[in-house]
Amino acid sequence: MTSAPYASPLAEQLAGDLLERFLRYVRVDTQAAFRAASRPSTEKQLDLSRMLVDELRDLGLEDAELTENSNVFATLPGRPGAPVVGLIAHVDTTPDVAGAGVSPIVHRGWAGAAIELPGDARQLLDPEVLPELGARVGHDIVTSDGTTLLGADDKAGIAEIMTAVAHLARSPEREHAPIRVAFTVDEEVGRGAEDFDLDAFGADVAYTLDGSGLGELEVETFSASSVRVVIRGLSVHPGTAKGKLVNAVKLAAELVASLPQDRLSPETTEDREGYVHPHRISGNAEEAIVDFIARDHDDELLERHVALLCKLAEEVGRREPRAHLEVEVRQSYRNMRPFIEQNPRVVEAALEAIRRVGVEPRLAITRGGTDGAVLSSLGLPTPNLFTGGQEYHSVREWASVQDMAAAAATIVELAAVWAESPRDRSG
Ligand SMILES: [Zn+2]
Repeated sequence: MTSAPYASPLAEQLAGDLLERFLRYVRVDTQAAFRAASRPSTEKQLDLSRMLVDELRDLGLEDAELTENSNVFATLPGRPGAPVVGLIAHVDTTPDVAGAGVSPIVHRGWAGAAIELPGDARQLLDPEVLPELGARVGHDIVTSDGTTLLGADDKAGIAEIMTAVAHLARSPEREHAPIRVAFTVDEEVGRGAEDFDLDAFGADVAYTLDGSGLGELEVETFSASSVRVVIRGLSVHPGTAKGKLVNAVKLAAELVASLPQDRLSPETTEDREGYVHPHRISGNAEEAIVDFIARDHDDELLERHVALLCKLAEEVGRREPRAHLEVEVRQSYRNMRPFIEQNPRVVEAALEAIRRVGVEPRLAITRGGTDGAVLSSLGLPTPNLFTGGQEYHSVREWASVQDMAAAAATIVELAAVWAESPRDRSG
């Protein structure tokens, strides 16, 4: 069977380099770790970062560097006076699924039958269950062997940026905006934008390549806060506890049981609906800790969700005045939408670039956060472009070469669109 056509001649032209890079990058183990004090959370992430610095230098991006804060930064000079366009992807993969020893398989011109992953017969990519896959008969589909994730999140984004930059560096006749590349670490553990040096990066607008389905541009994320409730009871030997013991474990259970049962949870909501989610509980009779995340696309509703948790904790405390309850609220990230709306050109340029590749663009919302949400709130508007990867954070992760090539072509077109527009720092 011959493979499906590409979105544009440019996408087809880029596909070979793209696939070669992608297959090479996914083999590097870059799994991040939760609750590590160090940055990066795992040293091995920098194996890929260093490799990318070398490759960027070979492409002629002479200033490519691994910064003190473990980001790869590099510049591709472009039309003087045009806005500087930032392109951002993360090198790390999720701690939740095995990421060492990735052995990618390319299913060329996939004919449409369920894909059995040879390393684990239980892992089946069934087009009946995965409509996005079902719509890609004839595509060249890349999977892992079923024992690890693939790592398209976000090595598809990295391969696409590298392929686009390599193409622009080799094509001096193509007019394009100046480009700043950033490859971050620890995005998967919520620390990708930590201490990101916006001044040193020096971009006027930016895009993360960390989305999913073909043609999507994410301009809206959740706003998120983390809420920790610390419950201090009074521990007494159970043999002599009558009238004295105040059991923090039971109070923690009471708090969790008092949450709304049929709404406001990840398992009962979709689209723009927010939630509160107890994701970790720890402790003993003396002290128990319940960790929640609260999320909503609407900042005011998020405040209400947080207020609800505070109220429920207070009620537990009122029922048992001998206990001591403390609530700590921390803001994680804000919805990027209001920041993006201040600079509509950022969205228009991306939509135009996607159209030039022959793909119908779609504005999307994400029920999560991105590094771009943090950067946007700090003043660098950074929506999220599709990469062509699917089923992230799973051993069934897969990516279409045709879609990834369309993403790489979108970046090339985006650099051209921005070269046509004058630099305007006022936004
Ligand atoms: Zn990602």
